[in-house]
Amino acid sequence: MTGVRLGEHTTMTRFVVDLTEKVEFRLFTLAAPYRVVIDMPVLDWRLKGAPGNGTSLIKGFRSELFRSDVFRIVLDASRPVRVRRLFFLPPAPGYGHRFVLDLEPSNRATFLAERRGSLEVAALRPLALPESVAAERDKPMVVLDAGHGGIDPGAIGVSGAYEKELTLALARAVRRELEASGKVRVVMTRDRDVFVSLKRRVAIAEAARADLFISFHADAIKDKRVSGGSVYTLSEKASDVLAAELAVSENKADIIAGVDLSDHSPEVTNILIDLARRGAMDVSVEIAKVVVRELKGATRMLPTSRRFAGFAVLKGADVPSLLIELGFMSNRRDERLLRQNDHRIRLARAVTRAVDGWFATKRR
Ligand code: ZN
Repeated sequence: MTGVRLGEHTTMTRFVVDLTEKVEFRLFTLAAPYRVVIDMPVLDWRLKGAPGNGTSLIKGFRSELFRSDVFRIVLDASRPVRVRRLFFLPPAPGYGHRFVLDLEPSNRATFLAERRGSLEVAALRPLALPESVAAERDKPMVVLDAGHGGIDPGAIGVSGAYEKELTLALARAVRRELEASGKVRVVMTRDRDVFVSLKRRVAIAEAARADLFISFHADAIKDKRVSGGSVYTLSEKASDVLAAELAVSENKADIIAGVDLSDHSPEVTNILIDLARRGAMDVSVEIAKVVVRELKGATRMLPTSRRFAGFAVLKGADVPSLLIELGFMSNRRDERLLRQNDHRIRLARAVTRAVDGWFATKRR
């Protein structure tokens, strides 16, 4: 999937999805509020371009990875809506395959009558993965998590750089390297400057059935002399004061955005982590070692570069998870390096070697 467009025509709204190949889909509608839902078996959910404005009939749309193999698009309608036509267009100069949905206004009675029909169609039409995705299915899934975003800038560097920008630039660089290497599949928790709650980042990793989750950060501390990268894995107890300080500031991201993370009391959460994650935690520690080894060849690392702390973003059930602190925004040298593209490429290649190497040894 490479793009989506919504256009207003005289008597209808046209919704177009650009696809790399023809796929099977499932379409159904929901009332209260009125919605049209399209499920497609697409793993690559990077959409180019802004969604654009809604039309008088369709207020807007959202898209997300609904399951690891199902990409869901939800169109929010301002009133009862009816599918007038639905078809695929073959590739033409300047375009690839296109899924085209023409929608027109309807009334409540028709909407409800047709809704039953569309659900039956849905049941008859099983989703099948497109060949390229199916062929990739045996490849490990790596979820890259660019820290912070949107109203949460993260740390602000000595010369004014935002952590959220540097983490996104680095996650993208890592994605490019991993894709070029071609040994794993990649999903990002965000690919633009948008706020994503810590809980949602974990949920994306779980939905994608991630084999590995890597969160990227570059934080600031009071002591401006401290510099170097480090790699964290989850632990109830922070390995030292610095680790505790960083975990507290990272976990604040949701408080900044006014999202309440606390579903469980801390005691319950710790027990849950203990039960669900013991296996994943051991694996995380093993991968962390490999990542640290590779990063040492690419950048300066903290003297104790393999660390432990209770970062909320690492609490995905049974997903081996790492948090890489790329350096300190509070340190002039670290911040300057992180703003450099060639430095990011060095880091991205080191991470890619570690990830590919790790999965290669696992497979033997
Ligand atoms: Zn951070």
